[in-house]
Amino acid sequence: MFYIGNHLSASKGYAAMGKQEEKLGGNTFAFFTRNPRGGKAKAIDQKDVDKYLAFEEEYQMGTLVAHAPYTMNLCAAKEDIRKFSIEMIADDIKRMEYLPGNYYNFHPGSHVGQGAETGIALIAEALNAALLPEQSTTLLLETMAGKGSEIGRSFEELREIIDRVTRNEKLGVCFDTCHVWDAGYDIVNDLDGVLAEFDRVIGLDRLKAVHINDSMNVCGSHKDRHQKLGQGEIGQEALRRVTLHPALAGKPFILETPNDDAGYAREIAMVKEWTANC
Ligand code: FE
Ligand code: FE
Ligand code: ZN
Repeated sequence: MFYIGNHLSASKGYAAMGKQEEKLGGNTFAFFTRNPRGGKAKAIDQKDVDKYLAFEEEYQMGTLVAHAPYTMNLCAAKEDIRKFSIEMIADDIKRMEYLPGNYYNFHPGSHVGQGAETGIALIAEALNAALLPEQSTTLLLETMAGKGSEIGRSFEELREIIDRVTRNEKLGVCFDTCHVWDAGYDIVNDLDGVLAEFDRVIGLDRLKAVHINDSMNVCGSHKDRHQKLGQGEIGQEALRRVTLHPALAGKPFILETPNDDAGYAREIAMVKEWTANC
């Protein structure tokens, strides 16, 4: 089974997102757990949760890949922002338990001039404070393009975070094709080599989900500007090989491309055509 979907607006609830994704042709999706620019999360509606869980079962939806808000920075230099970020991730972990066994993806953080080592230590400290022994959600560190002072611009940085987290059995990685390409990993000419490198540094068993995006920029640009599949520097052929790579088989693939609903439906149909034999 191949799992493909896109990022949806969470404003109408989980059941509405499930229906919407079905309409677009997908069988998994992503959503922000709260306003992407921060703020309070909507109260959980148990009726909506139950409705979604029934839908999920009926339509054999893949594992969902929730996304943390962009305002969360576990390694902010200002202590109040760090504290607020830890509260936010701890609250999101609790909220995710209403939909057991799914993924919660987040940007590791930006060290804002403190240096990568300090950033990594602060992120690990925050995760050690927030992770719960009984949680069923796996948290995914997203591979980052390395713009500004982003942590996660190399597989080594992600590995360092994982190594410092006590309950790291709750941690995985989300492989964003635009970000790894922008970070300097050549998935166009050497996808096998990049995934072998991921395996050597982190271990492929940690790779739980894929953000499938084309990039407006060249490999190593550290820019992070997503493009529609096949219209960027990565290109259709290389993205097709990503969807078909045996190391990524069975993972949820999430589109974060600049599209309206019709565009997403087209991209989902295209990816389904590539992967029809999966
Ligand atoms: Fe992201
Ligand atoms: Fe992403
Ligand atoms: Zn991005």
